Amino acid sequence: MASIKNIDNTTLYAEVIIPLALPLNYTWVVPQRFQETVQPGCRVEVNLGKNKRYAGVVKRVHHEPPDFVETKEVLNVLDAQPVVYEQQLRLWEWMARYYMCTEGEVMAAALPAHFKLSSETILVFNEEAGDDFTNLDTEEYLVAEALHIRRELRLPEVQQILDATHVYPVINRLIQKRICYVWEALKETYNPKKETYIALHPDYDSEAALERLLNEDKRLQRAEKQMQLLLAYLHFQRTEGEITKAELLKKAGATDAHLKGLIEKGILIAEKRTVDRIKGAAKQIEVNFELSSAQENALQEISDVFTSKNICLLHGVTSSGKTEIYIRLIERYLKAGRQILYMLPEIALTAQTIRRLEKHFGGHIGVYHSKFSQNERIEIWNKVKDGRVKVVLGARSALFLPFDDLGLIICDEEHDTSYKQMEPAPRYHARDTAIYMASLYEDCKVLLGSATPSLESYYNATAGKYGLVKLMQRYGDIAMPEIEMIDTRRYRSANDAENILTQPLREAIQAALNDQKQVILFQNRRGYTPYQRCSTCGWVPQCRHCDVSLTYHKFYNKLVCHYCGTSYPPVITCARCGNHDFIQKQFGTEKIEEALKEFFPDARTARMDIDSVKGKNAHHQLIQDFEQHKIDILVGTQMVVKGLDFENVSLVGILDADGILSFADFRVNERAYQLMEQVSGRAGRKHGKGKVLIQTSQMQHPVLLQVKQHDYTGLYENEISKREQFFYPPFSRIIKLTFKNKQKEVVRDAAQLFAGALSSKYGKYLTGPAEPIVNKVRNQYLMELLLKLPRSAKVLEQCKKDILYQVAVLHQEKRYKSVIVIPDVDGV
Ligand code: ADP
Ligand code: ZN
Ligand code: ZN
Repeated sequence: MASIKNIDNTTLYAEVIIPLALPLNYTWVVPQRFQETVQPGCRVEVNLGKNKRYAGVVKRVHHEPPDFVETKEVLNVLDAQPVVYEQQLRLWEWMARYYMCTEGEVMAAALPAHFKLSSETILVFNEEAGDDFTNLDTEEYLVAEALHIRRELRLPEVQQILDATHVYPVINRLIQKRICYVWEALKETYNPKKETYIALHPDYDSEAALERLLNEDKRLQRAEKQMQLLLAYLHFQRTEGEITKAELLKKAGATDAHLKGLIEKGILIAEKRTVDRIKGAAKQIEVNFELSSAQENALQEISDVFTSKNICLLHGVTSSGKTEIYIRLIERYLKAGRQILYMLPEIALTAQTIRRLEKHFGGHIGVYHSKFSQNERIEIWNKVKDGRVKVVLGARSALFLPFDDLGLIICDEEHDTSYKQMEPAPRYHARDTAIYMASLYEDCKVLLGSATPSLESYYNATAGKYGLVKLMQRYGDIAMPEIEMIDTRRYRSANDAENILTQPLREAIQAALNDQKQVILFQNRRGYTPYQRCSTCGWVPQCRHCDVSLTYHKFYNKLVCHYCGTSYPPVITCARCGNHDFIQKQFGTEKIEEALKEFFPDARTARMDIDSVKGKNAHHQLIQDFEQHKIDILVGTQMVVKGLDFENVSLVGILDADGILSFADFRVNERAYQLMEQVSGRAGRKHGKGKVLIQTSQMQHPVLLQVKQHDYTGLYENEISKREQFFYPPFSRIIKLTFKNKQKEVVRDAAQLFAGALSSKYGKYLTGPAEPIVNKVRNQYLMELLLKLPRSAKVLEQCKKDILYQVAVLHQEKRYKSVIVIPDVDGV
């Protein structure tokens, strides 16, 4: 029977999302006095349980009495204007449903901390606020004073100070007036480096005003040194965009006093700010470079695609100048008054990239990523919301910003796995979410860009779902890097250092150093995985059912597939070359550094991996040092691959291709190709041809031959047929369920039981349960269950419902109550 909604015209209800993992949103009654002000997207203060209070966001106001819940009244309305638009509410709803989490969890990830108030919130006095409270009303004053004395207050303490019904609105105003912060917001681990930047006073933004200043202003005619400094500033600003005080003084050969003179006259301004943050008045848009004819064609093709399709994949080889094409597109949408979201993987969001965009779009841009303080985030949030910021450059979380009129989303390096959030919920893929998000705005286009597209996107493009534009030559007719392989079997040595850096690689490094060139050595990040690998030819035994490498369990002396759980006896004879030697040595980046010291004691070397760049600014600093050639040899993991444009690198060495090619992952070949092609792309970008040397024992490995030929389509064709054969994405959609518990037996039985419950309906789609390679994390044992489902939206939807239902069933049983089940949709 179709349910007929009860309508109660006398009572107004509000469905409110609160920042908790509640399966459903709760509903509160809106009392008469708030009925005028409450609207979707506004925050309201609500009571949950006995005395927990939260600031939640209203999703819907309506007249339908909810079925079961006893409804309490909304306590306060915190915002006169919504903090998010309708589109954000719909995006949250979609994300929660698609990625199997709650709207509360999505909201918690989306909103800056300052918007999130709850009984647990701790307020901290803002030391910068001083003690001038003259512009506060009585209630604000009472709290501010208490904060000033005590430095910190919990919400219940504020409740004691004030009439309890008023607390949240007062706090909200104090946060807006910057008297206090939400403590969560201060838990920052990263302290961005502040530098003083110089900018022209907005009074002189127009050409006419500037001309008058330079030609007619008496104050300058008498101060020649200041005039020179100003001219130098204008020169750098036009050629390089942003300039710091230190750089300017150095480049102009001027002193602090001269600069001070110009600042006192109100001609220049100095502002302290985060190094990679953009500020200043909205400058003219200045896109003053020419596209090459290949780029021009690509841009035209993209525009043509957009007349009939909303999504376009730009497959442009490394250094083809994709960014320049993006800049042209951004310019176009900016001039049409639309907003633009330009997404990059977190690590690629370097000062280098930011500078490149800043140069053209100045104050129209906002940068948004996880390293920014909550204050900075809220600033951008507000500017995006009221349209002052038109272009947002950001990592995946930037898609939560409250865009009002989004016209274009660029997803650069669309293949990058860091677009997928792993932990915590929402475990979303930012590229896919962006594609859904675009559908919420009128005529919003999505451009995916990559030198090595994900198989999924390329498949969609060849199937005609997306447009496909190719840009197959590097900008400035620079040749593609030349790739050579070094057969490690020929150089095997008893000395480890000589295995790490084989003789041909050492010679090439020496040659580069002699030429004053720089070298990048790439070693894969993933640590030691116990494989059985033929030490002669690199062969790794594979699972017959899953087409993935088997891992070796020493304890049981067995090979195990960590997808389906099938175990095999250890292999004694290599199926490929017939040898019997299965030892495998893996070396970490420290070992490589030692080898370098041994062979190149005079070279300046540095290491870039997660461990070495944890500290403040370390990553930024390393890149800068390398750019300025303070480092000759950079040893790095995946981090060196991302979006960097180093001019002087002539050699890239990939130290252990065998390791890259043997991950136990159905995407191993795709990833290996992407990785090696991207690393190679760092070589010889500007001056002359770069060289890439790959150390391997598998000279004939198809992926290596494809990398050598830069043959993406070859790779694609091989892989796509295997994906079809083994029913992997893009032919299926994967939902991975991870079970966690402190007791190994409990988690194993729970996963078995769960698989059993699903098997009648989904048997043929189930793989596992099996132990993952890392089977214990923070004292919790893990089991995984994989569902490879057909792409039909209906099946998918139903299956998600069934999974959630089975989780509830599982938790009914006492033994399994504490088993955590984590669904991950479209994991990578
Ligand atoms: P990709 O992102 O495709 O790897 P980039 O956009 O980084 O390539 O371009 C490679 C280099 O070529 C950059 O240094 C860029 O400034 C330069 N370049 C590309 N196109 C142009 C152009 N039209 N005019 C001037 N320089 C360009
Ligand atoms: Zn072999
Ligand atoms: Zn298997």
